[in-house]
Amino acid sequence: MAKADKKNKKIIQSKKCIGCGICYSVCPVNAKVMKSDDFDPDTAELAIRIVDGMAVISDEVCIRCGACSKICPVESLTIVELESATA
Ligand code: SF4
Ligand code: SF4
Repeated sequence: MAKADKKNKKIIQSKKCIGCGICYSVCPVNAKVMKSDDFDPDTAELAIRIVDGMAVISDEVCIRCGACSKICPVESLTIVELESATA
């Protein structure tokens, strides 16, 4: 029984992040959230944000599209497929 894709993937983050914010700007979830008229960066449900110079992913909101991991200049983010996702 196939689970939703999202459950089988995870974004793994290393400490190499330099806080450049590129991931923040390419994330499609963030883009969608930012289009909202009442967008507030402090409370919005962003999939990835920069906190204290480091990218922080919200597992709950992230859809595991991998865009951030592809674009990160220091390969700080890696999308991995989990072998089996047991609930
Ligand atoms: S994770 Fe990569 S793209 Fe995102 S802020 Fe860090 S260095 Fe930049
Ligand atoms: S994998 Fe998650 S955090 Fe990264 S760009 Fe896609 S939705 Fe955003």
